[in-house]
Amino acid sequence: TLVKDRGNTIVDDLNGREGKDHRTEESIVNIVVGSSVWVEDPEIAWVDGEVLKIDGEDAEIRTSNEKTVVTKLSKIFPKDTDSSGGGVDDMTKLSYLHEPGVLHNLSSRYGINEIYTYTGNILIAVNPFQRLPDLYDAQVMERYNGAPFGDLSPHVFAVADVAYRAMINEGKSNSILVSGESGAGKTETTKMLMRYLAYLGGRVATERRTVEQQVLESNPVLEAFGNAKTVRNNNSSRFGKFVEIQFDEHGRISGAAIRTYLLERSRVCQISDPERNYHCFYLLCAAPSEVTEKYKLGDPKSFHYLNQSNCFQLDGVSEARDYLATRRAMNIIGICDKEQDAIFRVVAAILHLGNIDFAKAQENDSSVLKDDNAKFHLQMTAELLMCDIQSLEDALLKRVMITPDDVIKKSLDPHGAAVSRDGLAKTIYSRLFDWLVDKINVSIGQDPHSTSLIGVLDIYGFESFQSNSFEQFCINFTNEKLQQHFNQHVFKMQQEEYTKEQIDWSYIEFVDNQDVLDLIEKKPGGIIALLDEACMFPKSTHETFAEKLYQTFKSHKRFIKPKLSRTEFAIAHYAGEVLYQCDQFLDKNKDYVVAEHQDLLSASKCSFVSGLFPHLPEETAKPSKFSSIGSRFKLQLQQLMDTLNSTEPHYIRCVKPNNLLQPAIFENFNILQQLRCGGVLEAIRISCAGYPTRRTYVEFLQRFGSLAPDVKKRDHEEKDACRMILEKQGLTGFQLGKTKVFLRSGQMAELDARRVEVL
Ligand code: ADP
Ligand code: MG
Repeated sequence: TLVKDRGNTIVDDLNGREGKDHRTEESIVNIVVGSSVWVEDPEIAWVDGEVLKIDGEDAEIRTSNEKTVVTKLSKIFPKDTDSSGGGVDDMTKLSYLHEPGVLHNLSSRYGINEIYTYTGNILIAVNPFQRLPDLYDAQVMERYNGAPFGDLSPHVFAVADVAYRAMINEGKSNSILVSGESGAGKTETTKMLMRYLAYLGGRVATERRTVEQQVLESNPVLEAFGNAKTVRNNNSSRFGKFVEIQFDEHGRISGAAIRTYLLERSRVCQISDPERNYHCFYLLCAAPSEVTEKYKLGDPKSFHYLNQSNCFQLDGVSEARDYLATRRAMNIIGICDKEQDAIFRVVAAILHLGNIDFAKAQENDSSVLKDDNAKFHLQMTAELLMCDIQSLEDALLKRVMITPDDVIKKSLDPHGAAVSRDGLAKTIYSRLFDWLVDKINVSIGQDPHSTSLIGVLDIYGFESFQSNSFEQFCINFTNEKLQQHFNQHVFKMQQEEYTKEQIDWSYIEFVDNQDVLDLIEKKPGGIIALLDEACMFPKSTHETFAEKLYQTFKSHKRFIKPKLSRTEFAIAHYAGEVLYQCDQFLDKNKDYVVAEHQDLLSASKCSFVSGLFPHLPEETAKPSKFSSIGSRFKLQLQQLMDTLNSTEPHYIRCVKPNNLLQPAIFENFNILQQLRCGGVLEAIRISCAGYPTRRTYVEFLQRFGSLAPDVKKRDHEEKDACRMILEKQGLTGFQLGKTKVFLRSGQMAELDARRVEVL
């Protein structure tokens, strides 16, 4: 097999050092004294140099950063000296498809502000962290409109254009999957895609609000409520998003639907310095004074949910202006003034709710409101939510316990009350967010007659932090799913190219990541299923859950039990190992609203608020009907995959060149890691498994004609001439397609080496 189980060996595979692949030997043969090569470097990952001496297995290299290193021949790679300084716009045009070549190409292009590069039909986008002049102008859109793919320089518009043409011509739905780590530029890329699609599929604006305008204006609204500043990105989306743009038979946008995934709930009441809460809170605090006075808001510093961090302002952002812009966007997407007022009233209520502090009651373990200040905020919260103040206080301080004989009210201690308060805040906020998404969908409208659609996916990339919890588990699960989809697609594309050229590809194989997916989602027996079981069983703790995992997956090769831990487990994901802390898995998986909170808010006199908490029919409200976040997410993900599987996919891989969020800094190691996690190296590896180098017959003769001047002189068919050259050099295993020569890995280097000798 060509694929190793563990992500961290992918690069070795890519460079052909693993297994019984004959490339290793070949590349040794190809490198001679005087060859230009790439060699590993502890500071910059790869450095170029010249081979000074070869001694058995070892080579001595003089590097361009003026070091002399001795290393194994098998650890160095030939450098292409033919390609121009600016690099090539498609990785498949590289003479040598290996890690240093890929990295060098991206880096040279980034140096001249060419942030886009293709790898076949995958677009790699390196975040410029600066507005590049004229990159997204109307004139640029015009140029890409209808231009054949590959004619113009790589661009998001080109990808959108291909998707649109394919949809029009073949009547098939298409999707564009944008991925990358936080801050890599996914959301910006998505916005550009949508702008371009709106440009292609828009109509002359006769109506005041066109569908495409509404689609575009849904962005600022969703961003105000679903984005926040994090250490990785000042405008980080804290939810996944799939936008489905529907088209009519004339190729005009006729409807759209937005689906969102896993909004980060904990941020509403817990933030760490220097991050921020969701933008909408700060916007509202900066609203015109008649608004802030009405809601008794003021300095964000005075609210507990905001002042846990010292970051309140964002560079270059005016909250006051953005408040007005958000309201304008709300108007465009059809949220009326009354609804807007209700939305912001709820946002204000959450801020006041967070300031309700508790203290221990004198007589027993129960709790009371801490002081007059807490009382003031309680009153404000009740007023804004239009619910009964006493009921609100009770809902925060007490829990109803139903025993076989009795119904008793139990008081919470101050800590329990604070947890209850935060739970209420999170529930209200996430319901509010879901309401917004539903509202946007209703108001843009779905086209029931739509013949085809283009879906755009903007979803969190693979995450591996110091501490990883249930959220990372779900996110990485998503990425495993998408990775499988990606691999299958890349593999299929390879096969299609081979078929088109009528060459034999039968021995290319690959193993996918089905085993990790089984570990996570198999029913019964996967981690999600075991987690649900644990949540339903009242005596479970995170320790018993972890223990259950250890027993069940003792010999699963993707599952690792850390030696000393009793509450952690690791999964060997395709992108590397991730260690998960179980302690909050059970709580975070439970999807229920405390009955007291539900009752309180469904009784609100404000129809907007009570609408967020509709009364559930008796049956579903039964405690036996357990619903879990994990299972629900798994289902959502499966629906997403079903949608994607019915479309023709296009991939955009966003890369974050540095963690300083600064322009013009290209950190090699960091970028390699992302190319690995984003499957770019994997895609290249799958290509390497077959015939990584393709040249048209003309190109091939131009480059290697000098190897056989007699062949070149005589008047052979181009294809025959190429065959003669290859055979004369004693190469085997290559294939001659209809228009191109397909070379095995290493053969290009071999020919190049001979060419150097001839010269
Ligand atoms: P992600 O969604 O991947 O977390 P964003 O799309 O929010 O990342 O991008 C993070 C930041 O990077 C943006 O706020 C913007 O400043 C910058 N950025 C991203 N893409 C571009 C681009 N194409 N041109 C200029 N700046 C960009
Ligand atoms: Mg984003």
